[in-house]
Amino acid sequence: MKGQPETIRLIGAGLNGPLLAILLARRGFRAEVYERRPDMRRIPMSAGRSINLALSTRGIHALTEAGLWSAMREMVTPMRGRMIHSVTGELTFQPYGKDATEVIYSISRAGLNMALISAAEAQGARLHFQQRCIGIDLKTGAVRLRDEHTGKETSVESDVTIGCDGSASALRAEMLKQNRFNFSQQYLDYGYKELTIPAGPEGEHLLERNALHIWPRGNYMLIALPNTDGSFACILFLPFEGTDSFATLAAGSDVLEFFQSRFPDALALMPQLVENYFVNPTGAMVTIKCSPWHAEGKVLMLGDAAHAIVPFFGQGINCGFEDCTCLLELLDRDGADWSRIFQEFESARRINTDAIADMAVENFVEMRDRVGDPKFLFRKKVELALAAKYPQSFVPKYAMVTFHRVPYSIALARGTIQERMLSELCDPIDRVEDLDWDLADRLIRRDLTPLELVS
Ligand SMILES: Cc1cc2nc3c(=O)[nH]c(=O)nc-3n(C[C@H](O)[C@H](O)[C@H](O)COP(=O)(O)OP(=O)(O)OC[C@H]3O[C@@H](n4cnc5c(N)ncnc54)[C@H](O)[C@@H]3O)c2cc1C
Repeated sequence: MKGQPETIRLIGAGLNGPLLAILLARRGFRAEVYERRPDMRRIPMSAGRSINLALSTRGIHALTEAGLWSAMREMVTPMRGRMIHSVTGELTFQPYGKDATEVIYSISRAGLNMALISAAEAQGARLHFQQRCIGIDLKTGAVRLRDEHTGKETSVESDVTIGCDGSASALRAEMLKQNRFNFSQQYLDYGYKELTIPAGPEGEHLLERNALHIWPRGNYMLIALPNTDGSFACILFLPFEGTDSFATLAAGSDVLEFFQSRFPDALALMPQLVENYFVNPTGAMVTIKCSPWHAEGKVLMLGDAAHAIVPFFGQGINCGFEDCTCLLELLDRDGADWSRIFQEFESARRINTDAIADMAVENFVEMRDRVGDPKFLFRKKVELALAAKYPQSFVPKYAMVTFHRVPYSIALARGTIQERMLSELCDPIDRVEDLDWDLADRLIRRDLTPLELVS
């Protein structure tokens, strides 16, 4: 490409940094990635950083574009739906989609991160570990670095610098010093804690393998995602304060009593519960919105650095990977006119990242509370019936977000219309057989254009 800068410096070798490095290196750019942590392939991970992620269509599309998905298939476990655990141990399975193709994939975050780092190196990107970015000149893109091992500080010139440095971004901190930079951060009153259900004696899964398990308990919940080695990565979501909170679980006996009364079937499978609970840190969850995401055609931020979201739609990395493919599509279309690309990138993406941020917060209530409510389950049945009869027009919001690449803002808008329809259709009845199909037909024809015509 004519006029393209030779070198692009990326801050952060989490999930987005190495993927973007691969996509850039495949197009002939020199990608230099700076990561404050040591190389995770050589140093054992610190406790509490091995959560699993749910990968879905948007993330898989990006991994396919990077030529990685087929090799990664052996690292993932398909999850066909939610397995709901009641307090008395009854199980209810709620499929995610209409058939076996509509599944999401559980993958170890650390495994995905290491695979991306290795693939980036194999593609010719250079990764520099224990190099913390301590400042960026927004006018020139030059990056100041501190070697975390020796303490030595250096500065590197840069044509373009992209901040993929996560929710506590150093690049965003620099942008905050600018006039008229918009920024909001909203923490949940809830935290999360990583726990484990180990594999059985023969390496087998002790719960249904192809499901995302949820123990919804109204104000809080436990979830478990399968690993390929037979274990499950669990996350406990609990308020920080108040009754039934992290603050009240101060001793091992508190934790055991709490699990015995709320999650007894899970407790029976968690021999290291107390140890896990006290060794692993309690994480916070935040939604971050800001603008602009770029300055002077020299610096840009993407992924969690630009738009951190809470994890309840399982979209953080799917959305970040979609950032990467969107940026590369603009680059392929327009050439390396960075100033223009960065502007177009933000105007294409921000409306959508705002939408998924809001949907993710809403989905927390659905997961921890509504999935156990008979009214909600009835609406889900009607939703699936409508989706089966009108597959082009009535696509459930969860499916639009998870199994399609329709812009998130469209998924949000159509989801709101569909919710209204469901209220009109479901409120007067309590059996799917009593559904007023004529009314459904009229509403759908009037308010929903086929999805393929809008995306
Ligand atoms: C509990 C939980 C569950 C989740 N579940 C899902 C899920 O199921 N599906 C999903 O899609 N998403 C999920 N997410 C979200 C997902 O983890 C994030 O969206 C994703 O990690 C963001 O990737 P990133 O590369 O932007 O940032 P990160 O992965 O945070 O990577 C940023 C990197 O930058 C480095 N860094 C930071 N500051 C500096 C600096 N100054 N200098 C150099 N390096 C620096 C960090 O060390 C890190 O390696 C979940 C998140 C949480 C917390």
